[in-house]
Amino acid sequence: MTTESVKVVVRCRPFVDKETKMGCKKIIDAEKNITQISISKPDDRDTIKSFRFDEVFDENSTQQQIYDEVAFSLVESVSEGYNGIQFRIHNIFKLGTVFAYGQTGCGKTHTMIGNLDDDNQKGIMPKSFSHVFSAISSENNKGKQFLIRCSFIEIYNEEIRDLLNMDQHNKRKLEIKENQDQGGVYIKDCIIKVAHCAADLEKALKDGNKNKTMGETQMNRDSSRSHCNGQQKIKMGKLNLVDLAGSEKQKKTGATGVRLKEATKINLSLSALMNVITCLVDGKSSHIPYRDSKLTRLLQDSLGGNTKTCMIANISPADYNYDETLSTLRYADRAKQI
Ligand code: ADP
Ligand code: MG
Repeated sequence: MTTESVKVVVRCRPFVDKETKMGCKKIIDAEKNITQISISKPDDRDTIKSFRFDEVFDENSTQQQIYDEVAFSLVESVSEGYNGIQFRIHNIFKLGTVFAYGQTGCGKTHTMIGNLDDDNQKGIMPKSFSHVFSAISSENNKGKQFLIRCSFIEIYNEEIRDLLNMDQHNKRKLEIKENQDQGGVYIKDCIIKVAHCAADLEKALKDGNKNKTMGETQMNRDSSRSHCNGQQKIKMGKLNLVDLAGSEKQKKTGATGVRLKEATKINLSLSALMNVITCLVDGKSSHIPYRDSKLTRLLQDSLGGNTKTCMIANISPADYNYDETLSTLRYADRAKQI
């Protein structure tokens, strides 16, 4: 496996008003210096489980800190493209993927998108847009040409929807295709918008957000290509930014009907993701079950290829979320072993 390893970090959000009013107790302790998260059992405070990750962030972490310490180097390397190899255009991708995992309400969307109208609260997506454009306008990129493009899709009930195509919204499901000359796995007929500045990407994000079904599984892909004219060198980079669906168990939410169907599909993609991760971890399987869900198929290159991947596990500090938080920490602990 040529995966450049998966970085796994945990971010614990502060109490939200509701939890403060309910008098919730804090059961999470994040120790940044030893990158450890400890969780104590609500009715048995002496039972403490601890996990080590690549980085941990407590309730005081800022959006800027998360960007600088988690996303910056990944976005930087995608912006540089992939040095050295220049055979076939489409084989020279530099891939990077950031995804947020965790129970609904634990801060995935806050971490990935945040508040677009407040510069201090912008999440990884908008920050990466500015970063990509400042990287390509740097001194050592003088004389090179760049093409930045983006697409924005949602996976809902195992169907792919193009959030940048309002006309098609809710009507047509897009298909996943595979073609080595197209750069591997791609979505057929998906709108790919050219962006000339960070604001163009942010506008696409805002527009697409309005078309989301329920603000859950979605994905933002931003691809960049640089032409270095004299030598006809082309470098490509692709950045996947993924806000996963809530990982909570459907039993607890008491879902029925449409919601239950939804929850079942969500669990399918998250468990498919875990199966793929497990297969990659043990390294023995010759068959990695990427095809078990749309999510894993689309992330195929990102999980198994020459790529940088970062999983941010978002958790709540509150006692009443103990079971879900523990299961998020276990999932993240497993991903760490890739
Ligand atoms: P999710 O996307 O995982 O369902 P959200 O990102 O929507 O969760 O967060 C749920 C609530 O918690 C929102 O009101 C959000 O503003 C708040 N929140 C989440 N993370 C943080 C944080 N790190 N700091 C402050 N508020 C946060
Ligand atoms: Mg969300």
